Amino acid sequence: MSWKQGKKPEILIVDDQPLNLQLLSRVLSEEFDLRVARSGQKALEIAFGEDIPDLILLDINMPDIDGYEVCKLLKGDVRTQSIAIIFITARTSVEDEEKGFLLGAADYITKPFSPVVVRARVRNHINLKIRTDILESVAHTDSLTAVSNRRSYDEYLPDMWNHCMRSGCSLSVLMMDIDHFKAYNDTYGHGSGDECLRQVAQTIDRSVKRSLEFFGRYGGEEFVAVLPDVDCESAMILAEQLRAEVQSLAIEHSASSVAPVVTISIGCASTIPTAAYLPASLTEAADSALYVAKKEGRNTVRLASNVQNLSKA
Ligand code: GH3
Ligand code: MG
Ligand code: MG
Repeated sequence: MSWKQGKKPEILIVDDQPLNLQLLSRVLSEEFDLRVARSGQKALEIAFGEDIPDLILLDINMPDIDGYEVCKLLKGDVRTQSIAIIFITARTSVEDEEKGFLLGAADYITKPFSPVVVRARVRNHINLKIRTDILESVAHTDSLTAVSNRRSYDEYLPDMWNHCMRSGCSLSVLMMDIDHFKAYNDTYGHGSGDECLRQVAQTIDRSVKRSLEFFGRYGGEEFVAVLPDVDCESAMILAEQLRAEVQSLAIEHSASSVAPVVTISIGCASTIPTAAYLPASLTEAADSALYVAKKEGRNTVRLASNVQNLSKA
């Protein structure tokens, strides 16, 4: 979401005719960051690259992959499905227009086009896209700690479960809970409690995100990490690092029976997902392991012994 770093929205213009690319570039270059592609194949390469465009102006008639096919491929992939697509085409029939909208296009402009109309429509769709992205981001972020929220976790875990099931790789979940946090609030006040939650969450978030995995607030003073393609040995090593990292923040906690500083306990669960079990089985198993970590002294990490006897599909 480029505008968030103060940049202009990014638009990809796709047309096999250089003249059309020139015309459209002239109309839009002042307000937007533009990239151009002269074929469907090149458009897909750019869209699936590192810098995902916010909007694509897409010609339909092109020699290799036509615009309809490009649209279908982009709308069928989670990475690119939220790109706004506007068809800009010489095809003027209602059937063609209907087909474009059915494939998920945001708009349909016919050639020859009016520069003023193109600019206005692009501007409208970009504004809509910005607002949708902001809402989307707010809906998935915990307002206190600014890390992902429970809704994010509930959406991410089944996605990763299915992904790992298809590729036959391990999936691990770490459930973490701050030790004696009620006593922390009682001793230092709720405001300091909030600040402590923020600090712990931000620290773990930075650590976990280094390897592009998921971290979020599960609720209260509980946090959760999802580690795709990470087996139980590696998950336990990461868990131990996170535990040590929180302790080394050295946030004073005089009311804790475990240490003079804030600490966390972690339950770890790991499995190779199969269709016979629900993703929730992993959450439950990590939670049980967390319970054991609490019972056996806190400020420690425990591995779930049996993931497979929980939620069956
Ligand atoms: P344990 O070591 O067994 O985990 O004990 P605990 O005191 O941490 O656990 P308990 O579940 O008894 O208490 C959790 C506390 O977390 C109680 C609640 O007030 C506090 N808490 C939950 N959400 C927030 C929050 O957003 N801000 C603050 N300041 N406190 C919160
Ligand atoms: Mg706690
Ligand atoms: Mg708790």
